[in-house]
Amino acid sequence: MFFIANWKMFGDLNAVNSVKKVIKISKYRNFKKANIIYCPPYTLIDKFVKITKNSKIKIGAQNCHYSQNAGPFTGDINADLLKSIGANYVIIGHSENRVSGDSNHIINLKIKSAIKKKLKVIFCIGETLKERKRKKTNLILKSQIIKGLKGIKKNKEIIFAYEPVWSIGTGRIPKIDQLERQIYDIKKMIKKIWKSKNSKILYGGSVNTKNIRELNKIRSINGYLIGGASQKSKNFIDIIKKTIN
Ligand code: PEP
Repeated sequence: MFFIANWKMFGDLNAVNSVKKVIKISKYRNFKKANIIYCPPYTLIDKFVKITKNSKIKIGAQNCHYSQNAGPFTGDINADLLKSIGANYVIIGHSENRVSGDSNHIINLKIKSAIKKKLKVIFCIGETLKERKRKKTNLILKSQIIKGLKGIKKNKEIIFAYEPVWSIGTGRIPKIDQLERQIYDIKKMIKKIWKSKNSKILYGGSVNTKNIRELNKIRSINGYLIGGASQKSKNFIDIIKKTIN
């Protein structure tokens, strides 16, 4: 099971203390089944790589630029720079970045550049509330998957994260039976494109210590992408424990 902490634009240098607590717990034997990945802001990646060095915890970024080469892109960071400071993962296609301009085409270029630099990709897909109400969910997801993966061969280093946009940061999660069906549909879409049954799909959107047991009823989910609830070590640990125990 994957537990990916997306810290978004939160976290100063004191945030290191929160990670230290998780590092300690992650060494326990029953945490063996948990793949824990922190995606802090760019400013903390180097620090987090250093403090997690002797642990099983891996570090990722929340986005990257599409250019495989260095260039005049003020304020941007590409996959090469991330790899050079020890990141192993990168989130691509998060709805907050789609809103600020990441088209399916740009996302496709970003995934290609990340793979080229041997970063593992957490590829986010998800529908808005308007799209859901218009019964367009599967159409949107299919288009995000097909366009995002254009020209990319089956690759087990790409992990899919289904994040309904209306669920992110709102405290709302889909009904369990509907979410189970959605995960099934997504797996079917990926299978059709890649002829692969084994792709990993995470769920993201308001996962917390209260709803995690309910979410864990869905056996086909391979883990969680967790925003708000991952920032406090106590909550993050609680979510992991409730899932793996
Ligand atoms: C996210 O930003 O990917 C996310 C899932 O956020 P939250 O858990 O806060 O809804």
